[in-house]
Amino acid sequence: SKGAALVAAVAQRLVARRRQVDAALAPFRLNHSQLQLVKARMRAGLEAGLRSNQSAMKMLPSFVYQMPDGTEHGKYLAFDLGGTNFRALLVKFKKGLQQNTRLYHKIYTIPLEIMQGTGEDLFDHLAECIGDFLDYMGIKNARLPAGFTFSFPCEQTSLNTGTLVNWTKGFKATDCEGHDVVNLLREAIKRRNEFDLDIVALVNDTVGTMMSCAYEDPQCEIGLIAGTGSNVCYMEEVKNIVKIQDPDKKGETEDGRNTEKMCINIEWGGLGDDGSLDDIITPYDTEVDQNSVHPGKQRFEKLTSGMYLGEVVRHVLLNLTRKGLLFRGHVSETLKTPGIFETKYLSQIERDRLALLQIRSILQQLGLHGTCDDSIIVKEVCAEVSRRAAQLCGAGMAAVVDKIRENRGLERLNTTVGVDGALYKLHPHFSIVLQETTRVLAPQCHVTFLPSEEGSGKGAALITAVAI
Ligand code: BGC
Ligand code: MG
Repeated sequence: SKGAALVAAVAQRLVARRRQVDAALAPFRLNHSQLQLVKARMRAGLEAGLRSNQSAMKMLPSFVYQMPDGTEHGKYLAFDLGGTNFRALLVKFKKGLQQNTRLYHKIYTIPLEIMQGTGEDLFDHLAECIGDFLDYMGIKNARLPAGFTFSFPCEQTSLNTGTLVNWTKGFKATDCEGHDVVNLLREAIKRRNEFDLDIVALVNDTVGTMMSCAYEDPQCEIGLIAGTGSNVCYMEEVKNIVKIQDPDKKGETEDGRNTEKMCINIEWGGLGDDGSLDDIITPYDTEVDQNSVHPGKQRFEKLTSGMYLGEVVRHVLLNLTRKGLLFRGHVSETLKTPGIFETKYLSQIERDRLALLQIRSILQQLGLHGTCDDSIIVKEVCAEVSRRAAQLCGAGMAAVVDKIRENRGLERLNTTVGVDGALYKLHPHFSIVLQETTRVLAPQCHVTFLPSEEGSGKGAALITAVAI
């Protein structure tokens, strides 16, 4: 009959649409052997970075040798320049009373024109925020020791000097790369001529996060950030850091402290910058990379961090729409707008048991008007992209924990990873997939993931406390 023929035609169209959507998403699905390859490449990258400065992953020495031991006490300042904002903190530690740490903080946004303007304006802005915070706390004349968390790759030569190797994420302020960022901050403070600051430590956010978690869990020796950016640090044996071998200094600092291990900031976002991930990078990823602030750089980060996942999703949606598989084939201005799909929407759309109507209304608020069928597809795209991100981080983490295990000649390793970042903390599935992948790819390691509270800032304060 006519009716049956119509139903059959509609069903056929649905099946065809389904097949085309599946085909478009196939490149995001990584099988076990591909993930094992990623783990192997991460491992090779760790070794290469310990040997030389020319590798894709920089493996930056942090000059942090010791974990907090609970005897830290006193008041410290910490300033934290992350991916999207600047935080000023005052932290008070009490001996042996980890739970009684007091913390006051204020958050300042960094306008885009400051992120991408001149270095002088950027650091003047930071100095202004610091001045405001000191006023706010009423401690402008106290001259407390301070830690500076700076979430970008810095080549350090001591705990409180570090040259910015290159900007990442959304930053590209001029005249900063190749300069000591502690100096840049000191000069800005001098220009302001309002207060003094004693900057004791320059700290990557991964290192701060590891330290703040180690304060509560002595087994913590790894720090992970899964937020705007993506990165890991871990405690490495000093004898393995081939590129900084100095036989005189080996094993001891000037004041005679034991330095068998040092925390290394991997800068794992750089994995693939030498082409080693080309076989898993999809055309959508290439689009995102080409249109980013730093094309060709941070290829692993662009597959795994909050700043980019929404953009990958948007490029897939654009492609599906152009093929007529979404939004009735209508490519709206909204869909063409870079950055509309922030990670927080991914987190919302992927929430379990969210009704399709709710997804549809989230999309509508974004300016994307579609049917419930469109909502199903959008949710699938988000799920594939965030799942791949979590799996890749899991594969990377498996390489790191196995390296630590082998360093110690252990059959089995129990270890803890301190974690921070909105992708880890707010996404409904990211942390579960990350943990599962780590477990499967590093079966000889038992890895506990510990979310940090006020991680990178408090950690910088702790490093400062340990240092003085
Ligand atoms: C930076 C790292 C940082 C990470 C997380 C990356 O873009 O290069 O230094 O740890 O973001 O904030
Ligand atoms: Mg941060």
